[in-house]
Amino acid sequence: MKIILDFKILKNTLNVISTREFKDLPSFLTTLNLKETEVVQAEQVHGENRCWVKGLDAGKTIPGVDALITKEKNLPIIVRTADCVPILIYDPVKSIIAVVHSGWKGTLLRIVQKTIENIGSDPADLKIGIGPAIGKCCYEVGEEVISKLKKEFGGWEKYLNGKKLDLVSLNKDQLLELGVKEENIEIKEMCTACNNDIFYSYRKDGPTTGRIYSLLMNINEPERFSYNRPVIIDIKKQQSASLAQCAFGLDVAFPSCSDGIGNTFSCDAVGTNYGGRVCIAHGEATTSGSTCDNGGGGILPS
Ligand SMILES: [Zn+2]
Repeated sequence: MKIILDFKILKNTLNVISTREFKDLPSFLTTLNLKETEVVQAEQVHGENRCWVKGLDAGKTIPGVDALITKEKNLPIIVRTADCVPILIYDPVKSIIAVVHSGWKGTLLRIVQKTIENIGSDPADLKIGIGPAIGKCCYEVGEEVISKLKKEFGGWEKYLNGKKLDLVSLNKDQLLELGVKEENIEIKEMCTACNNDIFYSYRKDGPTTGRIYSLLMNINEPERFSYNRPVIIDIKKQQSASLAQCAFGLDVAFPSCSDGIGNTFSCDAVGTNYGGRVCIAHGEATTSGSTCDNGGGGILPS
């Protein structure tokens, strides 16, 4: 079974994030019925450069950049991370997408803000997914990083706990500062180091570790991609669910399944032994009743 995450907020795009179950990019892409010659990647040099890409860039790795932007339909763009923050941006009004690789350097260089300025969107229109990254629980940084943080960000104290840096909040606050709406930001709050059995982590595994692939594609016909798409599942650690086959013929470990383009479906045929009260489909705890409050109709364990 393949485990992948997606973002509900990025409905109408194909957006997927790989886990350790994919040892390399080809194995991830094969699951998506895609080939390396069809996707665009960034070299990722921990800088601030961004690049607009087109269909003729398919199969290329764009040198010297850490963010990719495109208007092109059906052109998947990818970022690779292992602790750094992957950010997926969608402007449904202008029909533009972008992916950003934001480690500490990119974060302090405000690469996510610069990418949005390049897109030229009204930030209030944007939908943004922030993927799994090293958390404030684990990300200890040195003096160099701390002094740069203090220089660049007023109110820096809020991002530091001792020597531990909250990279995700630093990126989120940059989005809010531009005028992105909080409800349009979906964060996978799963520390890559704490959840090292699910995700690759540079800090935990060392420099030779694999990478998490975050793929975003603006699609013409969402329905084209509602078949044979991987199921979106996460947080197997936090659940003791037995696997079951969902109505769409897919393995699921929670009471709903997704078609890979952000649509979730209730599922009749799942097991009942769920440990917690977290709707995995939406990655958020909920408190009331047995139905997920976050939309999508996921039924919570009672
Ligand atoms: Zn952690």
